[in-house]
Amino acid sequence: MLTDSHAHLDDPAFAPDLPDVLRRAREAGVGRIVTIGTSLESSRRARAIAEREPGVWFSPGIHPHEADAPGDVDALRELAGHPRAVAVGETGLDYVKNYSSVPNQKALFVRQLEIAAEAGKPVSIHCRDAHGDCLSILRAHAPLRGVIHCFTGDAAAVEGYLSLNFFLSIAGPVTYPNATALRETLRHIPLENLLVETDCPLLAPQPRRGTRNEPAFVEHTAAAIAAAREIPVGEVRAATTANAARLFGIAS
Ligand SMILES: [Zn+2]
Ligand SMILES: [Zn+2]
Repeated sequence: MLTDSHAHLDDPAFAPDLPDVLRRAREAGVGRIVTIGTSLESSRRARAIAEREPGVWFSPGIHPHEADAPGDVDALRELAGHPRAVAVGETGLDYVKNYSSVPNQKALFVRQLEIAAEAGKPVSIHCRDAHGDCLSILRAHAPLRGVIHCFTGDAAAVEGYLSLNFFLSIAGPVTYPNATALRETLRHIPLENLLVETDCPLLAPQPRRGTRNEPAFVEHTAAAIAAAREIPVGEVRAATTANAARLFGIAS
């Protein structure tokens, strides 16, 4: 079985045919999906999907892009306490797009770490070109459990997150021809710390690049990880599913 640890099933891109998307996921062996909120409204839509669909859980969060106008952040508390909520986020820091100011991004990140700690849930973290700040904030709030989603950092970042016992989740970019550095880095991440994800509808893996991404395509990412590590893909599927079950506390 495969687990897509980070999908955006509430995205309008899936509105026309979500039942077909979920059927194709099951047919591809993707038995578990965590659908991730990026705003309060998105988190509520994610909750509705998780309440309705077996094999789907959700993570309420407010994306760093929204940090200048995040809305009622405290409303995340109730969502985080929902029995189908398995994490808080996505939250974190994005210094590539900088859609929101850095101080606001940091403040919103810290508030969500506090909400996760209160709820006893792990955090799903988005971090782009901000690993130094992200690591120092996580260290200041340790102990926390969580995952760095769509990880593309270097060996030093790997070392930092592993020292905090965090998971690193690999997405479609690992399948791209120019991702040789990432494929080399991921050879050094212990299998027990790896998750896989689509981050759909964006970031479709190489064979589907340029199309709408969906959970069924996570198998291509698992295959690229197996090839980079020179191990059977079944080992990647089993380990990443067991890791996600451990982190999120999910079972079918
Ligand atoms: Zn993200
Ligand atoms: Zn995402």
